[in-house]
Amino acid sequence: MLVRWRKIVREQVLFVRVFFIGDPTMYERYWQEMGDKTTVVIPGWQFTSYFSDAGNLCWFLEPELAKEISRLHKVVGNAITEGRLTVVGTGSSQLFLTALYAFTENDASEPFSVVSAAPYYSSYPAATDCLKSGLYKWGGDARNFTKTGPYIELVTSPNNPDGFVRQSVVNRSGGILVHDLAYYWPQYTPITSAADYELMLFTLSKSTGHAGMRIGWALVKDPSIAKKMVKYIELSTIGVSKDSQLRAAKVLKVVSDSCGTAARPRENFFAYCHLLMAERWKLLREAVKQSGIFSLPEFEPGFCNFFQRLFEPLPAFAWLKCEGSVEDCESFLKSHNIWTRSGRHFGVSPSYVRVSMLDRDRTFGCFVKRLSQIHL
Ligand code: PMP
Repeated sequence: MLVRWRKIVREQVLFVRVFFIGDPTMYERYWQEMGDKTTVVIPGWQFTSYFSDAGNLCWFLEPELAKEISRLHKVVGNAITEGRLTVVGTGSSQLFLTALYAFTENDASEPFSVVSAAPYYSSYPAATDCLKSGLYKWGGDARNFTKTGPYIELVTSPNNPDGFVRQSVVNRSGGILVHDLAYYWPQYTPITSAADYELMLFTLSKSTGHAGMRIGWALVKDPSIAKKMVKYIELSTIGVSKDSQLRAAKVLKVVSDSCGTAARPRENFFAYCHLLMAERWKLLREAVKQSGIFSLPEFEPGFCNFFQRLFEPLPAFAWLKCEGSVEDCESFLKSHNIWTRSGRHFGVSPSYVRVSMLDRDRTFGCFVKRLSQIHL
């Protein structure tokens, strides 16, 4: 009895956490099917040094990872890597702060404002202000930003939480743009062109689903900015785990190989994950229709250069709105045993919530079933 009770509590807690954070455990199934293809063995004597490539500006970047990052971007066609420097980080979360450090100035008369159009990724305000830096300060919704002075605009495209493709919105010269392209991969959105921005952030967490490896990378145009980013990582963590970089390189290699003509169709990583996302969005839209009290964003289809066909975006998060008299959607869903993250955290009304679409099959199935059964 006690064992059963513990199991139920554990499942509930897990259910709560995964929907809250957006843990990409959906990807486990693909990697299990790939068996030993990504297995890496690291002998005890290997990687004792801090250095990976002493001659490179980013001296802690493993050359094998650098090679596989460029290769994958070429295969997918989602970002220009020529003429860019790659800076590796402990997830793109570290690189986000690294970019703020690199773009701001020690002797500026006031902190740079950091803004993003609402609904914005909820970690941006929290991470920006957590150390109460004198270099930068959270400035809120970019659409309402009128303050004079230097600013950095974070452009997340496709956006977390609502999945829309975005451009910068502060229409003022002298601003600095940081493009967070964590979700610009073909399982989520049509790849319409190769992104070509000043500073672009990517992460393994949402591209291959390996959040636990904690590997992200920045493609940086300006060498002086890249140099400052490297300095920040030197100061904060003296580099990035080589063990993780080696695993990341192997995973990216397997993904690129899977897109080649020699691979079997079911092995194609992006086709496999795209199909999963399409099934999930279909189930979610059916559940929302059945319930009748929620709405979801509608997306325009776009032509994807990678898949060579037209399709509608299939975002990693569902941006669900409670229609009618329900004002606090998070509490309302909690009362039906569905744990979500309120729109308040993303700078908008609590009638919205964010729900992860990247959980394990069983949890996702449980979520849509519970949602479809809610009626007012
Ligand atoms: N940017 C966006 C838009 C994200 O959604 C996330 C993950 N939720 C991150 C960055 C952080 O990714 P990482 O796991 O690489 O730190």
